[in-house]
Amino acid sequence: MSRMATTNNGVGMSESCSDCGRDTPHAVTVQIETESSKQENAEFSREPYRVSECQVCGTATSTRMNNA
Ligand SMILES: [Zn+2]
Repeated sequence: MSRMATTNNGVGMSESCSDCGRDTPHAVTVQIETESSKQENAEFSREPYRVSECQVCGTATSTRMNNA
């Protein structure tokens, strides 16, 4: 995707991408992890994650939002 979107649903957030090695537009979404497959750390099983996906190379980076 190469369209230059204005800020809409987080699309167009400029963030640094380690794969691209520069700032690129990212699509940012928030996902609630509820995967029961993740047995480890049950307390984290429903944490909101901020997922930013590079719109250039497609690399998605998820960050746990409650990580203070
Ligand atoms: Zn990238």
